[in-house]
Amino acid sequence: MPSFPTPRLALAGAFAFLLVGQPVPRSSLDLAGMDKSCPPCQDFHRYANGRFLDANPVPPQYSTWGRIEAMAQSNREKLRVILEQAAANRSAPKGSPEERIGAFYAACMDTARQDALGLQPLAPEIKRIAAVRDRAGLSAAILRLSQLGVSAPILMAARQDRKNPAEVIADFDGLGLSLSDRDDYFRKDERSASVRAALVDYIVRAFRLMGIDAATSEARARAVFHLETAFAGAMLTRVQLRDPYARYHRMELRALEQIAPGFDWGRFGRAARLKPGSAVNVAQPEFFKAFDRELRNTPLDVWKAYLTWRLVDSFASSLGKAFAAEHFRFRDGVLRGTREMPPQWQRCVVQTDQVLGEALGQVYVARHFPPEGKRKVLELVENLRAALDEELASSKWLSETTRAAARAKLKAFTPKIGYPERWRDYSRVKVDRRSLVRSLISAAEAEWARTTAKIGRPVDRLEWRMSPPTVNAYYSPLGNEIVFPAGILQPPMFSLDAGDAQNYGAIGSVIGHEMVHGFDDEGSKFSASGALENWWTAGDRRKFEERAACVAGQFDSFDVDGLRHNGKLVTGEAMGDLGGLTIAYRAYRRSLRGKPEPPVVDGLTGDQRFFLAFAQLWGRNHRPEALRLRLLTDPHPIAKYRANGTLQNMPEFHRAFGCKRGDPMVRPPEQTCRLW
Ligand SMILES: [Zn+2]
Repeated sequence: MPSFPTPRLALAGAFAFLLVGQPVPRSSLDLAGMDKSCPPCQDFHRYANGRFLDANPVPPQYSTWGRIEAMAQSNREKLRVILEQAAANRSAPKGSPEERIGAFYAACMDTARQDALGLQPLAPEIKRIAAVRDRAGLSAAILRLSQLGVSAPILMAARQDRKNPAEVIADFDGLGLSLSDRDDYFRKDERSASVRAALVDYIVRAFRLMGIDAATSEARARAVFHLETAFAGAMLTRVQLRDPYARYHRMELRALEQIAPGFDWGRFGRAARLKPGSAVNVAQPEFFKAFDRELRNTPLDVWKAYLTWRLVDSFASSLGKAFAAEHFRFRDGVLRGTREMPPQWQRCVVQTDQVLGEALGQVYVARHFPPEGKRKVLELVENLRAALDEELASSKWLSETTRAAARAKLKAFTPKIGYPERWRDYSRVKVDRRSLVRSLISAAEAEWARTTAKIGRPVDRLEWRMSPPTVNAYYSPLGNEIVFPAGILQPPMFSLDAGDAQNYGAIGSVIGHEMVHGFDDEGSKFSASGALENWWTAGDRRKFEERAACVAGQFDSFDVDGLRHNGKLVTGEAMGDLGGLTIAYRAYRRSLRGKPEPPVVDGLTGDQRFFLAFAQLWGRNHRPEALRLRLLTDPHPIAKYRANGTLQNMPEFHRAFGCKRGDPMVRPPEQTCRLW
């Protein structure tokens, strides 16, 4: 039994985790974590979470801390047990999930070996870049980095064609920035300037660790930053990227050659099994023009420094203490305010999940995801679907044409619960117990092979984009599917022992949230078959845009510790929260039809427990750096506003707690946002 690290201890007493199969609790809500001195109609988030938040400051190894982080941490502890056993078991059958994850975890945990090896396992890759003598060599080096999963600055993915989702094509995009957002390169405020300076400093330190002299390191770091700035200038903003039409530019590979003739697309195409006539999507053509300009104008030495930097930064946390410390200092420290590096086991659990998630997931679900959990969640999903269908059927503003199309889309949703029906094949991944970096390189090469093999083949409907232990969920507009990994189907999100009020308020609101993504600012542009095509009448679309703008305006208006959300950036997620909680509530009430009103438990009615379970999910503290970063880059609103912003719009909530017009938790009727 592993000892619990500090974060878990910080939580003890404030919140009880429930395990499936334990005796029925009186209530799995965190009653002790509430702040009953704060009236619920004043600030419901505080009422629901106040004492929990006071008792749970962000631990030094984190940038945010709250109930969902605690769930993820408790999950990592379960994964740690699995991985330690797998690593110790030297007789697991060759090629079995246990053998693979055990070897990888062992390689990751062997920090003495990583310290001793340092940069050495990456040396062949670094030499390859150093040997570049001309533009043709440069193309080859960029291709090689793509095969290692390092975007410098281009990356190819295999994606369904947005207008013909039955077809899988290559999708080219520009990434390759070291800061979190293209805007970070241009913002005028002091904090942004200091983050940019810290990035240059990090690049200098990385070059110094590679044995490059101080003056050269300085000069190269500045040149790398300058090159990234040129790329950033040609990229779309996060808000622009929310429009799927803005990212859709289907063409033949040979047309991309005309946009960026300075790059050897023929070589890239051969490696990716593409022909000059193969269909590709170019997400941001303007970016590829800038890429081409820089290929022609930026000196070869600067390009080589940039590629080396991108490579080393990508692998830094696996290159021994010195590199890992610099990586942490900038990526977690400067950007997010994290004080201490998490323990190695924790980082290795995360890395094993990233690299071999479905092998780890196989063992994880066998131990921690009982089949009755899957059945119960599926039942909730169907109840939520029925509730959303009622919303659509009774909406007063939808025309019959749009209504029918929306209901057909909802009917076509595919739910995926817990874990994939077919596990991913990792046989190409050569895990080397003696070298973490070599294992990572092999995993990246296997991923490249998997990606290129998908192009031109039928869509794999059984594929998952999150691993089973992940504490998260997603909606895929192209697959028109909602996906809930086993990791999120645990207390306090979901428990077989929790009452319906709590399950509907917690996991129900999450299921509803994912469903509503099918109808948010972005998802609403995709049809039931997953195609990017308009199924709205012009009038309905206008009314829909007004509703989306209402939500954007609401989130623009919040003062978040002196900062603001970008309403347009968070519209889709905020719509998901509002629509999701609305249908979860409707589904909860439907489940009570023909039954007596649920009893008052712990002084709370069923409806009150429903809303409390929802708001408690969003009990979370942030470091100021993390708060700012999220406001600038995260399409999700800050936790407190996910709770309060949503509830302010819901008369069902106001009734449950007796909130009146004029209370802060009540939006005036003329400003109330509603989706249907
Ligand atoms: Zn979402």
